[in-house]
Amino acid sequence: AKDHGRNNVQQYESVMNVHAVERLQLEKDLRKAIEREEFRVFYQPQIDIDSGRMIGMEALVRWQHPERGMVSPGLFIPLAEETNLIVPIGEWVMRTACVQTKRWHDAGFPHIRVSINLSAHQFTQPSLVSKVRTILEETGIEPKYVDLEITESITMTNVDKAISTMSELTGLGIQISIDDFGTGYSSLSYLKKFPIHTLKIDQSFVRDIPQNSDDAAIATAVIAMAHSLNLNVIAEGVETEEQLEFLRERNCNEYQGYLCSRPLPPHEFEELLANELQM
Ligand code: C2E
Ligand code: CA
Ligand code: CA
Ligand code: CA
Repeated sequence: AKDHGRNNVQQYESVMNVHAVERLQLEKDLRKAIEREEFRVFYQPQIDIDSGRMIGMEALVRWQHPERGMVSPGLFIPLAEETNLIVPIGEWVMRTACVQTKRWHDAGFPHIRVSINLSAHQFTQPSLVSKVRTILEETGIEPKYVDLEITESITMTNVDKAISTMSELTGLGIQISIDDFGTGYSSLSYLKKFPIHTLKIDQSFVRDIPQNSDDAAIATAVIAMAHSLNLNVIAEGVETEEQLEFLRERNCNEYQGYLCSRPLPPHEFEELLANELQM
């Protein structure tokens, strides 16, 4: 399961294979989940490789289903995308993550950055920019500490439109990252035109480094390319010291992964933040 694209297909099929009735029920539940306050946002630290310090975190949604327990995003995000429910869910996640981050800023961690996933449907919504502006204003968070993660494929359907949307977003003062980089098809010439700040190396290329020479070559090339374009580069899915060492030797800027921590609920994430103060 090294091919990320194939992974997505499997997740999609697993949703499709669920009995139609059950799927319909899940969709019904999903529609009610926001008003019933069943979603949670977990946070996974992002670490500066040079200093070893936490400089940000990725916000990852969780669904606490009343009967099923924690439903994995791999299961309900594809369903939410299909039904367009990802738009209100994504907006809720963005607002919640910004409110939480602003609280942490005020509590003594003024420079912590939050990365929030943006789905294709959200990105192409005409009202996206005004919604983001409203959330920034209402939460009072400093825009430069908000980073929106979009995938390569989102940008490829209509490159010119995507560039203008990205420019409007960065015009608000926020940052943009390209998520799952390497799994799509964006060419260097496009990448150069994107007003982005960070490339995220997909975890499928991190999993088997340094042993797998193809993945090692890809990770090395992505880091070099990011730097030649003056972009920040972060590796995700880092689980071992060996992987981290490989990335450090190649001057990868940041990492995220189980080696540091799994995504955590806010109160547990706060314990990590408190430890940072004592460092
Ligand atoms: P992603 O954006 O690529 O997020 C990274 C995924 O890798 C997360 O899975 C995270 O828990 C997992 N991960 C982090 N470190 C490690 C590691 O060291 N090893 C391994 N094996 N996995 C690691 P998660 O939370 O299950 O999310 C899955 C996907 O669901 C995300 O992939 C993203 O595409 C989507 N997603 C999650 N939250 C949101 C959201 O709020 N909005 C949207 N649109 N998509 C979301
Ligand atoms: Ca992401
Ligand atoms: Ca990713
Ligand atoms: Ca991914």
